[in-house]
Amino acid sequence: MVGVVGSSPIAPTRTPKGGPCLPKEVQRGPPLLFARRVQVNVMVEITLPDGSRRTYESAMSVAGVAADIGPGLARAALAGNIDGRLVDTDAVIEQDARVAIVTGRDAEGLEVIRHSTAHLLAQAVKQLFPSAQVTIGPVIEDGFYYDFAFERPFTPEDLEAIEARMSELAERGLSVVREVWDRDDAVAFFQDQGEVYKAEIIRDLPENEVISLYRQGDFVDLCRGPHVPSTAHLKAFKLTKLAGAYWRGNSDNEMLQRIYGTAWPDKKQLNAYLKRLEEAERRDHRRIGRELDLFSVQEHAGGGLVFWHPKGARIRRAMEDYWRDRHVAGGYELLYTPHIALLDLWNTSGHTDFYSESMYKPMEEDNQLYQLKPMNCPFHVLIYKDRLRSYRELPMRWAELGTVYRHEMSGALHGLMRVRGFTQDDAHVFCREDQIEDEILKILDLTLSMLGDFGFSQFEIHLSTRPDKSVGSDQIWDRATEALRGALARKNLDYSLDEGGGAFYGPKIDVKIEDAIGRQWQCSTIQLDFNLPERFDMEYVAEDGQRHRPIMIHRALLGSIERFFGVLIEHFEGRFPAWLAPVQAVVLNITDKQAEYARIFAQGLQNRGYRAEADLRNEKIGFKIREHTLQRIPYLLVVGDREVDSGTVAVRSRTGEDLGSMSSDQFVERLSADIESRG
Ligand SMILES: [Zn+2]
Ligand SMILES: [Zn+2]
Repeated sequence: MVGVVGSSPIAPTRTPKGGPCLPKEVQRGPPLLFARRVQVNVMVEITLPDGSRRTYESAMSVAGVAADIGPGLARAALAGNIDGRLVDTDAVIEQDARVAIVTGRDAEGLEVIRHSTAHLLAQAVKQLFPSAQVTIGPVIEDGFYYDFAFERPFTPEDLEAIEARMSELAERGLSVVREVWDRDDAVAFFQDQGEVYKAEIIRDLPENEVISLYRQGDFVDLCRGPHVPSTAHLKAFKLTKLAGAYWRGNSDNEMLQRIYGTAWPDKKQLNAYLKRLEEAERRDHRRIGRELDLFSVQEHAGGGLVFWHPKGARIRRAMEDYWRDRHVAGGYELLYTPHIALLDLWNTSGHTDFYSESMYKPMEEDNQLYQLKPMNCPFHVLIYKDRLRSYRELPMRWAELGTVYRHEMSGALHGLMRVRGFTQDDAHVFCREDQIEDEILKILDLTLSMLGDFGFSQFEIHLSTRPDKSVGSDQIWDRATEALRGALARKNLDYSLDEGGGAFYGPKIDVKIEDAIGRQWQCSTIQLDFNLPERFDMEYVAEDGQRHRPIMIHRALLGSIERFFGVLIEHFEGRFPAWLAPVQAVVLNITDKQAEYARIFAQGLQNRGYRAEADLRNEKIGFKIREHTLQRIPYLLVVGDREVDSGTVAVRSRTGEDLGSMSSDQFVERLSADIESRG
């Protein structure tokens, strides 16, 4: 899923609200007045990012500063940053300020390029399809999109023509110029051109918003900016796909045509990105899931609900068995809880207040309302509260592979990655305040060790602290946050701090894993909770005989079994290591003469607990080998007359490597070592 950067539809990037400051007289001036500021005779001292300072006798534009530093920087300048505000290169610095020249090397510069390329796309579309109306075109992860109202869907051929026109416009090096307009004039201007969506956007802007338009050649678009100074800076882009999208994301509105694209500072980076896309496409878990017959989503049952086919179910069982074993060894007890509960439970937990958007509607039975569970937490709390607990029982670690249901928008559903029903590898730890750090340490140990066994060794860790709106005393937040820091320090783990990014009920640690092609996936989360114990009035009797509140830790290590399975499929490209592979070995006979031997050999492996099969079909051995290689089975065991005579099999890996002939015992030794290593 790509996320749209910035919430306001016309907000190009993360530009602070308000955009470049302009004097009032310019704002009220006639239409098409250039927004450049009249030079003021005042000394201006600017501080550059390296700390060096430059003084100018009068106000200076960003482009002027870049030119003053050097001609190379003047050529590379895409925008400027004045005291944290992202501005065009012709924006004028009129008082002492910290200034950075933004180029394609900066994240901000990359956004300016992508945003400007969205305008270039709109310009090309308007030239080729004058009746198309422009709407919005924000920057998204790795690129941008632009939504158009058009009488028919665009075709792939249209896309090619549009991209070619964009290249022509870029080569012409059109200046991109900012203009500040009167609101009514701007509305009239777009209305006249039949651009009713733009007119509507302007009408909806806050009263005090400066209406800035950007002009490049024959094309004028409403925008806060900033943009590249010339289309010549847009050298490396590609339109990637077409989709439908509702105006303002509302399905009651008209359907628009969305064109997606990507843009980079140079061709080399563009090509590297397109290669990554191709690689991701090749690994797409939905396609591999079909090819290997692992899972499906059934239209007849509804979107976002996953059906595990026999081979997928075998992998899931291996994952779950491993998960349970590790948890039991780690001092956890396993729980099972229901899928529904009285709505009142969710009122007590607070979910009907702060989580209702994601919950399915309650169902009525015997004049009572029942709720399908979106989370497992309150159930574990009920078990805790089933009797009075003593400090001697703490910490209590309770884990459950708990299936929950959450209502996701149908447009957001994506294979196994974004679903409506999923099984969390959930656990709750109830402990005393002085036990937090040790418990977090244990959870981190278990997390990193398990993720390691699943083939992940690169992690990115985030610690999120108290947000403005939160429950719990300063004291408990401080102590808990210190405990999380302490545990990370004791594990010697690098982490980044997300100040104020915690949940309202407690601080948290998130762990992202990096897959085989460098993509990051957020899977593990460890969250402290000062809220639920309060809401459920949870207690334990302490050493002093008094009743105290326990601390509750929520944690999921894999996240959900479904999504983690999706990540595994893409990470391994379907080549599961032997411990997870649905079929670990397949025995192939060359002719019918060896059929019985092959069948008995496979049976022997099965009897010893391995996932083995025999393919006795009367097909050419080359055909069978190719087919099982495509099925990514780790070991292919070929049997001809020679193998029957010597009581062996010829072992071949799925990469085509000849591992020599082995007896049943020798092969089991090899396979079990492979499984043991989880490699
Ligand atoms: Zn723009
Ligand atoms: Zn929980």
